Amino acid sequence: MNNNNNIITTISLGVPQKQNYGIMATVLLCKILGIKLDIPSYLFINAISTYKDKVSLLPEFLSHLNDANAVPQHVIKDTESIKYTLSILANLSNNGYILEKKVKKIKCDCGRIDAKDDTETRYNFIKNGKCIFCGSEVKNQESNELVFQMPKNITLSYQMIPNRHSKNFQNLQNALSGREILISKSRDTGLRYDEYNIDVDFNNYLLMNSVPCDNHIILASANILQHMAMFNGISQVLYGNEKHNIFIMVSYLTGEPHIEKIKNVNDLQLFLLNSINKFDKVDFDNGFITMLNKPSKHTYVNQLIDWYYKPESISIDQLESFYLRIFLNNNKQQFL
Ligand SMILES: [Zn+2]
Repeated sequence: MNNNNNIITTISLGVPQKQNYGIMATVLLCKILGIKLDIPSYLFINAISTYKDKVSLLPEFLSHLNDANAVPQHVIKDTESIKYTLSILANLSNNGYILEKKVKKIKCDCGRIDAKDDTETRYNFIKNGKCIFCGSEVKNQESNELVFQMPKNITLSYQMIPNRHSKNFQNLQNALSGREILISKSRDTGLRYDEYNIDVDFNNYLLMNSVPCDNHIILASANILQHMAMFNGISQVLYGNEKHNIFIMVSYLTGEPHIEKIKNVNDLQLFLLNSINKFDKVDFDNGFITMLNKPSKHTYVNQLIDWYYKPESISIDQLESFYLRIFLNNNKQQFL
């Protein structure tokens, strides 16, 4: 396979409330892999929300990424893509994939619990019959809603990197096949189609599918496999089987990075890339900063960063072994 008409993207990332170096690591990785593969890289941003004002936080988020030289080639914001979303919703509706139906739901007052009342709906937000956010009782309700019809069989070809997540992913995808997914919400979501409030997650899946391509590499953390399965099903509806999705699972970074000890952008980038490893959830590798600060390492740090920024035209077939060798290697200090 050649790399024509391939792209690499982040999943649609919510604008964080404060500086978030875990998100920054994923965005930087997207940019760097795009350069190494010599394909366009995209950052998708979700700023539509009525719970928090994310739009006013957006400039700071972007300038923070920019200071770290971590912005991919293209930035797509959901707030600027509403026309696109509405046209796709109309299309899906005309083709029978979005239907108006009477749906039995469970709901709380704040609207965070607003889901189909079926055995497949698992909710972590309910404790003793009450919403953990607003404390109101979770009630049953029947109302007119919009549902999205998942294909009977989700058969779109995909690759999961690393491969150990494949089985879990396939199970989630099988469970989604043929289901009617509730995509409207009772509360104001900030996105309206006809008289319905559209679920922001559903909008994210549409947005991430907005760039037509043959091979689509998507960076996500392993705790959101369910979202990736949903995304794959929606890709199939939008593109038939003419698309191949490649999911790269990135470590979810926890703990406090010792940013104050980092002296420049090159060191920051190496620190973030180094913190990503083979574990799904891992602490920032603060010990690496001590290594970076040794004067004897300066030249090598700069050479390493130069190497990251050198396009190599790694083919899609080589991507898995490249990612495993460079990013999931737990002995990355060997490079220094
Ligand atoms: Zn609530």
